[in-house]
Amino acid sequence: MTNIPEIYGCMVFNDAVMRQRLPRDVYKSLTYTIQTGKTIDVSIANVVANAMKDWAVEHGATHYTHWFQPLTSVTAEKHDSFISPVAGDKVVMDFSGKELIKGESDASSFPSGGLRETCNARGYTAWDPSSYAFIKDKTLYIPTVFCSYTGDALDTKTPLLRSMDAISEQALRLLSLFGDNTSARVSTSVGAEQEYFLINKEYFDKRDDLLYAGRTLFGNPAPKGQQLEDHYYGPLKTKISEFMQELDTELWKLGINSKTKHNEVAPSQHELAPIYATTNVAVDQNLIIMETMKRVAEKHGLVALLHEKPYEGINGSGKHNNWSLSTDTGKNLLSAGSNPASNTQFLLFLAAIIKAVDDYQDLLRLSVATPGNDHRLGADEAPPAIVSVFLGDELEELVEAIVGETDYRDKAKRTMDLGVPSVPTFRYDSTDRNRTSPFAFTGNKFEFRMVGSSQNISLSNIVINTTVAKSFKTFADILSGAQDVETAARKLIKQTFKDHKRIIFNGNGYSSQWPVEAEKRGLLNFKTSVDSFSCLTADKNVELFTSFGVMSGVELRAREEILFENYSKVIDIEAKTMVDMTNKKIIPAIERYIADLSSTAKDKLAVFESAAPISLERKLIGELSGYACRAYDIAEKLRCAAISAASESDCKVSAFAYKDKVIPLMNQLRATVDAAEELVPSDVWPLPSYGEMTMKQ
Ligand code: ADP
Ligand code: MG
Repeated sequence: MTNIPEIYGCMVFNDAVMRQRLPRDVYKSLTYTIQTGKTIDVSIANVVANAMKDWAVEHGATHYTHWFQPLTSVTAEKHDSFISPVAGDKVVMDFSGKELIKGESDASSFPSGGLRETCNARGYTAWDPSSYAFIKDKTLYIPTVFCSYTGDALDTKTPLLRSMDAISEQALRLLSLFGDNTSARVSTSVGAEQEYFLINKEYFDKRDDLLYAGRTLFGNPAPKGQQLEDHYYGPLKTKISEFMQELDTELWKLGINSKTKHNEVAPSQHELAPIYATTNVAVDQNLIIMETMKRVAEKHGLVALLHEKPYEGINGSGKHNNWSLSTDTGKNLLSAGSNPASNTQFLLFLAAIIKAVDDYQDLLRLSVATPGNDHRLGADEAPPAIVSVFLGDELEELVEAIVGETDYRDKAKRTMDLGVPSVPTFRYDSTDRNRTSPFAFTGNKFEFRMVGSSQNISLSNIVINTTVAKSFKTFADILSGAQDVETAARKLIKQTFKDHKRIIFNGNGYSSQWPVEAEKRGLLNFKTSVDSFSCLTADKNVELFTSFGVMSGVELRAREEILFENYSKVIDIEAKTMVDMTNKKIIPAIERYIADLSSTAKDKLAVFESAAPISLERKLIGELSGYACRAYDIAEKLRCAAISAASESDCKVSAFAYKDKVIPLMNQLRATVDAAEELVPSDVWPLPSYGEMTMKQ
């Protein structure tokens, strides 16, 4: 039996280890940096580095790596060993403060959106002391930020840390207006629920589309998908349960509080939720969770699919970004308390967030815009591409009452009595769940549900933090001149609710009436990701990010270019994979079956001559020849369309060419091939079926 408290965090250079291994003054200085975000004193780095190295070597590590998050969807690492030669042809294990603080790497092979045009490819990684170092695969991982030679951020972590500082500063201004002068920092916390699919490795290995694109580009839905709703929360298969147990253990060793696991709606879909953490730590942990899932799955003969839409016809995967705001003294600023109507400070924070979501709908939408997520948003399984806020009945009534200046009485807490005496009574929650809302208030946190399962959650949190910081700043500027803060705040809350009421929507986000209603309200609806990329450099957004020092104009333009480029590359890979599979696997398989049918027909003719019953063979050969021929023609058109889209020199024009010219051909090709699949025997069809992949883990 694993002793969980004993193994928990055993691979992390965490607070307890630091306290034990660092001299007192060094420990104090380092924790000060971690808690306040202040710059670390270089003189202590050598001591920390040495202690880290000793600890890592004792735990079997031979290497260290600066672990960073370039603008791809995955993390990057380059391993250096600790060895250092000494006299007598020997080595010692060595690690200096300099090596801990700064690393150097060639930035030119990572996406830089034109930033590398400065003919300088040099890039630097720099230690982020606020996220603990850890050991994985005999390597000490040091979380770092990544920037160019010119000091421009080339990663997702740098602007995230900047946005956390921005929101802290502005929230503290508001708090001090309400008499709180003891809080020194306001942090945002995030709990990211991660959805994923597991597939038997044997099937995965037979599908080039899963290998190259992470999703199936062909395939007919199985007769049984999620219609019976029997997979959601259903009992775990032994193999899956064993995988989950090992995953939990690995995550616990890395100090990640993996808490909840269950089967999701679609067959072979699952979810893992950790306990929330400070945002930058939560981001790092989510990345480790995704990587660990993949690693552990392989050990169990499985492959973890993190793509937003591995299979057509059943639900895709998202990530729920639960976000809250709390002081270093432990107060959750989104907690309404028992009497929200009289809690002016809470209402002010709430109003600020509603204003931020309304003013920057475009950025929230953009933050989840990926080609993979285009398959989810707006389909009947995930929030629509339209951003809105769900408050729940109680708070919505309160907002109405404030705007309309009508009476509002706090709801007495209701008690649930099921009429079964042996079941204890319990309290209702004041908000029901609303699964269809993109941005839902769930008691003491907001849940941003549009994020895609494979995404790094940084960008969404950068946007939430910075836009909310902006509302806080606007409010603090107004209120700091007020004679009577309470009265001025009440007025401001009312005005804000009035101005931004349109963003509040408690109804069903999946319904077909909502987009119509949303348009009437003037809400944005960027249907696909490409439609939203340009908003990153809209004047109002450049002004937002630069004014808080979160991202510079240059960094924003670079990121916009990367978004367009990445979109084009993803679709290009998908298109090429489809062409390849069509010509090399699918058409040959159809032809083999046609040959088989022909020889059967020939045999029948030899026996029965003109009376031979070959009408079935004729029909099948005719139909399949048609499909094969059409597939060949469309594949050729698709190949040319992709080449033409790629040849556009403007990244935006190119991305739109992929969206408008390439994707429709991909859809046509898929429809043709899927129709052929229905007629070809499964032992001839070259790809595992949807049924095998989703039902036979
Ligand atoms: P639900 O089931 O309603 O989605 P849970 O309580 O299961 O809510 O929490 C889901 C996720 O939200 C978990 O990762 C949890 O740690 C996280 N979470 C809970 N409280 C907070 C909070 N105050 N701030 C951020 N995340 C939170
Ligand atoms: Mg949830």
